[in-house]
Amino acid sequence: MRTGWLGTGPKVAEFEKLIAEYKGVKHAIAVNSCTAGLHLSCLAVGLQPGDEVVVPAMTFCATINAVIHAGATPVLVDVEPQTFNMDPEQVRQKITAKTKAIIPVHFAGRACNMDELVAIAHTHDLKIIEDCAHAIETEYHGRKAGTFGDCGVLSFYSTKNIVTGEGGMVLTGDSDIAARIKMLALHGMSQDAWKRFADTGYKHYEVVEVGYKYNMMDLQAAIGMHQIGRVESYWQRRLEIWERYTEAFSDLPVTQPAPWSADSRHALHLYTLLIDPEHSPVGRDEFIMELHRRKIGTGVHYRAIPVHPVYQQQFGWMPEDYPRADAIGQSTVSLPLSARLSDADVEDVIAATREVLTAGR
Ligand SMILES: *Cc1c(COP(=O)(O)O)cnc(C)c1O
Repeated sequence: MRTGWLGTGPKVAEFEKLIAEYKGVKHAIAVNSCTAGLHLSCLAVGLQPGDEVVVPAMTFCATINAVIHAGATPVLVDVEPQTFNMDPEQVRQKITAKTKAIIPVHFAGRACNMDELVAIAHTHDLKIIEDCAHAIETEYHGRKAGTFGDCGVLSFYSTKNIVTGEGGMVLTGDSDIAARIKMLALHGMSQDAWKRFADTGYKHYEVVEVGYKYNMMDLQAAIGMHQIGRVESYWQRRLEIWERYTEAFSDLPVTQPAPWSADSRHALHLYTLLIDPEHSPVGRDEFIMELHRRKIGTGVHYRAIPVHPVYQQQFGWMPEDYPRADAIGQSTVSLPLSARLSDADVEDVIAATREVLTAGR
């Protein structure tokens, strides 16, 4: 703040460089949200009106909205019941002559089956945009999430594993895509426009496309860049909490997150329980209220996409057509998993959860 410059500038460039190094990717372009990054990625890979994009039925609405904003048509597929990730078999079934891209979401930080998805994309000549909002630390077969597709998009929203308040980053190995995203993120002004933020002197710019106002501020980048050095220790702390939960809930009538495969790394973004009212003393919504009464915040990530009225109206999607996503959406609850939780906080969460889920036993 003392530099007197809060907008886009040298801190953003530094943050981009640090993220590109961390992810091992050629280009990282900072934007003001992951949603903006997904939107620009859809445009930059060349999606056109009428093109179909395969998206999972279990994700945050932003994944779907970005496709719609780009003028393309989202096509929903159900997820795998264990991983909550897009089911490659369902993807195969939904491919048509109009399919141009797929957007895998590494749900909760668990890597999608990228071997299968990359093979499908290769066979059908599809673009891949990875929604890495949960997947900063995610790896699959030794490779970082966000580097398998044409683009990968991170979120630095307030609840994510690196936080700038609002913020996002597009990763790509393609210099043309990187240049187009950078241009579209700043009004569609030619690259020279960015030089206005540097000390190299004035140059005229030209507006070459009708772009957007999606650039990140130095203020945000300055908050984010110092967290990269703490990513690993925070991940280790979340692993401790995760393991403590796993042990503490092993006898409860709930479904815990499935173990992740040995050749992958889970980003441990969300720790979710599935609460089935047939087996538990309370249903999911009642569990949330009971924890709230005990001053413990929880989240629902997410109700299935087809429960929302706007998508039912626009696309005719119905929850019963995506039964696995719908079942997850009705029973899932995310417990606190911040690295900043103290041991006492974690024990409070465990005690409350056990109390509510063993009531009457
Ligand atoms: C948070 C989130 C987004 C949107 O991120 P913003 O930075 O808030 O735009 C997109 N997809 C998923 C899966 C998310 O969880």
